[in-house]
Amino acid sequence: MNSITAQLLAWYDAHRRDLPWRAPPGARPDPYHVWLSEIMLQQTTVATVRRRFPAFVARWPDVRALAATPLEEVLAAWAGLGYYARARNLHACARVVAERMGGRFPASVEALRRLPGIGPYTAAAVASIAFGVPVAALDANLERVMARLFAIDTPLPAGKREIAEAARALIPKERPGDFNQAAMDLGATVCRARNPQCDACPLRAHCLAHRRGIATTLPRKAAKKPKPV
Ligand code: SF4
Repeated sequence: MNSITAQLLAWYDAHRRDLPWRAPPGARPDPYHVWLSEIMLQQTTVATVRRRFPAFVARWPDVRALAATPLEEVLAAWAGLGYYARARNLHACARVVAERMGGRFPASVEALRRLPGIGPYTAAAVASIAFGVPVAALDANLERVMARLFAIDTPLPAGKREIAEAARALIPKERPGDFNQAAMDLGATVCRARNPQCDACPLRAHCLAHRRGIATTLPRKAAKKPKPV
């Protein structure tokens, strides 16, 4: 295993965030919990989802229970989480999985992508975390960590390709889901957008942006085109 990956995983083992949808260390994650949390997190903060997730799984302990509930009830329970299209897709996806897949989520990125409400990031997150598929789940946190680690200064969105290649090179065959979650946690708590805590970072010795003193300038965003008057 690459030493960057090994150090990131060791840091995760010691500092991972305790989130209600995560399985305890060493236990197999429940694909239903992983999927549900990823849909909830699409446009809602971790703090809010952390509060609301337990009530959802208490009321609907598995995908079949969710699928058997009228849409209106799911929409009512979604109140306050915003973007109701997500709740509609959540329900539609639950019905497909319950009725056509025997209540089991598919394990491949391609099959997950065909389900309602699942885009490239969510498919990669579910496949890697729930099923151990070695694929990078590129959210804003992982993008920021990769851009800084390798000093990738091609502005986004064009820079996403280089960032994805860097992440692909690091993703391990063992524990790919933990790698993705470790990068998410590092980006959220240490390699923060505005005020990176490089002194507390397990990757400091490898980080080109830190060495060059340019961490806060990365990832770069493309300059906005002036609006026509
Ligand atoms: S050393 Fe600093 S900039 Fe580099 S990955 Fe760590 S926190 Fe981010």
